[in-house]
Amino acid sequence: MRSDSKLGFTRIDRVAPIAPDTHGGRAKCLQRLIRLDLPVPRTVALSFGVVHQIAAGKRPGTEALLAEFGPDTLLSVRPSSQDPDWGGPGAILNIGMNAAQHARLTASHGQAAADALYLRFVQSYAIHVARLDPEMFEMGKAHGSAELQAALRAYEDETDEPFPQDIGTQLGEVLQSMARAWEGTSARLLRQARGAPADAGLGLVVQEMALGIGPAESGSGVVQFIDSNTGQPKLVGRYLSQSQGRDALGDTDGALFLTQDARGPSLQEKCPEIFAQLLHYGTICRIRLREEMQIEFSIEGGQLSVLDAVRVQRSARAAVRIAVTLAHDGVIPEQEAVLRIPPRSLTELLHPQIEPDAPRDVVATGIGASPGAATGQIVFSSTTAQAMAARGEACILVRRETAPEDIRGMHSAAGVLTERGGMTSHAAVIARGLGLPCIVGATGIKIDPAQRCLRTADGRVLNEGDVITLDGNAGEALLGAAAMCEPALDDAFNSLMGWADDARDIGVRANADTPADAAVARRFAADGIGLCRTEHMFFEGERLIVMREMIFADDPADRRETLARLLPMQRADLRELFTIMAGTPVCIRLFDPPLHEFLPRERAGMRELAGALDLPLSKIERRIEALSEFNPMLGMRGVRLGLTVPEIYDMQARAIFEAAIEAAQDGVPVTPEIMIPLVSAMREVEVVKARIEAVAAAVRSERRVDFAYQLGVMVETPRAALRAADIAQHVQFLSFGTNDLTQMTYGLSRDDAGRFMHAYVKQGVYPEDPFHTLDTEGVGELLTIGAGRARATRPGMTIAICGEHGGNPESIAFCRAAGFDYVSCSPYRVPVARLVAAHLALRPYAERTAGVNPLSIIH
Ligand code: PEP
Ligand code: MG
Repeated sequence: MRSDSKLGFTRIDRVAPIAPDTHGGRAKCLQRLIRLDLPVPRTVALSFGVVHQIAAGKRPGTEALLAEFGPDTLLSVRPSSQDPDWGGPGAILNIGMNAAQHARLTASHGQAAADALYLRFVQSYAIHVARLDPEMFEMGKAHGSAELQAALRAYEDETDEPFPQDIGTQLGEVLQSMARAWEGTSARLLRQARGAPADAGLGLVVQEMALGIGPAESGSGVVQFIDSNTGQPKLVGRYLSQSQGRDALGDTDGALFLTQDARGPSLQEKCPEIFAQLLHYGTICRIRLREEMQIEFSIEGGQLSVLDAVRVQRSARAAVRIAVTLAHDGVIPEQEAVLRIPPRSLTELLHPQIEPDAPRDVVATGIGASPGAATGQIVFSSTTAQAMAARGEACILVRRETAPEDIRGMHSAAGVLTERGGMTSHAAVIARGLGLPCIVGATGIKIDPAQRCLRTADGRVLNEGDVITLDGNAGEALLGAAAMCEPALDDAFNSLMGWADDARDIGVRANADTPADAAVARRFAADGIGLCRTEHMFFEGERLIVMREMIFADDPADRRETLARLLPMQRADLRELFTIMAGTPVCIRLFDPPLHEFLPRERAGMRELAGALDLPLSKIERRIEALSEFNPMLGMRGVRLGLTVPEIYDMQARAIFEAAIEAAQDGVPVTPEIMIPLVSAMREVEVVKARIEAVAAAVRSERRVDFAYQLGVMVETPRAALRAADIAQHVQFLSFGTNDLTQMTYGLSRDDAGRFMHAYVKQGVYPEDPFHTLDTEGVGELLTIGAGRARATRPGMTIAICGEHGGNPESIAFCRAAGFDYVSCSPYRVPVARLVAAHLALRPYAERTAGVNPLSIIH
């Protein structure tokens, strides 16, 4: 073994001190291949420190390096960054080719081989080392003497020097150009975008060439044993005779299939022994490196060499299947399979996605508020969306912003695009609940609902009926129908999620308002419902009309009469919810929004309402006027409504209790949890609690059945967090509504912040959109204070979060560290939250095994 310290390089053998954080992932992987007795050509590694010095101008000690390989050897140099995903400069092959080598190889391998090898080196040296214009060195498909002479002449003309003949000079220049390329600004920005730290180092590996060109069977190829898109076992790759590097992948005409294939000849038929050897190496790599690897190989004169092995590139769904299959085969433990899947990548499995390679003509860009992808015709109103759905046609609802009256339209649409709004605007919250892809805050577009068209930022006009595709992950709307891949909730996904649940130690519930939402929550194995926004049960059709009648009721008797009509609807919905969620807790929030949200905003709607209620239009207008507020989000909503129109909460409490009794009679016992929204004072809780207790007593005596329930408070005003000690005296649980709590802590409208959030984040005023990622410093402090004070009063009290942050990985980490019992989020975010929770719980395991986990070497 030659050591680094003096010579500046390390020969890679079984025992050399090579580590990913000193020599990079490729160098370490090559050492592992050597330890597995794979035929890796002689290789030498340069450490990060040495490469950094070379970039700074220190001459590399090429004589000693060349002495490692002996005379007349051709070399390749490849990058070796700590994480191969961080990239690096391209490999340079055939270093050492000069006139003398050319003559020698002409004699041994023939003129054509010698020309091809020399030409390849001249081309890459000219372009990547001497930085000459690539066009001058494009020689087409021919690699003969004429092309070689032309390339050498072009080099000399451009540099006024002959092509360097000294091998030491060639190698020194190659090393220096690769070292400097890594330190350039664009390379740094690129790798930082892939998660690399600013000071990430580059190692280089110098390897003896297996020529792949010459007499007897020679060539190169690439093989992997898994399908990169599905993760299913499949032998994928190509082999090309008389080629080097990854040429086989680029040559569709001449390359051989690996296994027998009806479409043409294969390596299996041509070189059966070599093929068998490759299969054997594939198995060894999988088991010993505990990964699916892609192997780059070369054949020279019938001899197989393994030049390199890298983790197989994979889609999110393939990653899940690969990890689960490795665990099923006993290659890795289940915990490691769980840890190998980045939680956010799961969204790709839950929703349809645009094919990664599909062309993208972007017509609008905004905030990707709900993931997935959908194609449909543009419609500008909810009524048109419903009409389209009735005809079975897919549509995308495009609105300036959505309001409660758009809910039916949203149900009917395949996706939603709004000009205004942020992560917690109405459109965003509802779309996430429905699992619809949604883009909000697409401020570059101008919608003209009257003309039924929208104008894009680049001046194109799209009309109703034009087809677009929403990419809710990227926040982009594309013109036309893009190619899609379907969700993948298969056996592999279920196994992985089962292992995640075994590991996690914080509950994950779903925010679900309707039976449809609850069914999704159940499908995604939520631990219960953490927030049922009951008002959402009344935005639909016939119910909305009764609701409006209730709002228009002139006196308590009229109001009681309409509430009596709402009661069975509410009771039936809840009973269905309890049945779907059988065996898991369901937390029902009493009415929250200001009443005027149930009233029409436009004149046509008002006229329709006047007809339905048999009231003069002027009365409708006056009532709407009377109910309208300057600041509805800070006005008569939540518990304030419960205090001023107490009959509404009475009706809801009754519906909850009666539904629970009926569900129990059906064999589905349930302990409902009742949550009071927007509390800011203890007395509010006392008043509402007394009324709920009275309703409970009445129902118990009427039905002659006893039942249990829990009462809780939604902490969404800063005052409620600060006064949590008082409030806790009266309730069994607290759930932080961080949407409103963020709005009120910042004094920032959750519906309007989208307009300027981008500028705020861009200038670093906020590190992230606080409606998206919990502001751990401010809002988070209120959470910690609230939880601490509540538990000081009532030790072990249930504490939860049900704002949109409940599904955000960083926020889940915060809530777990703060000792919360569960998080609650949109049903479609439940799997991600379950996996995040598992990762957090497995952190000690990950740290314990990091040293022995080969992944940390290869990954
Ligand atoms: C909240 O405010 O965080 C919350 C969950 O309630 P809503 O979004 O319905 O106001
Ligand atoms: Mg709220």
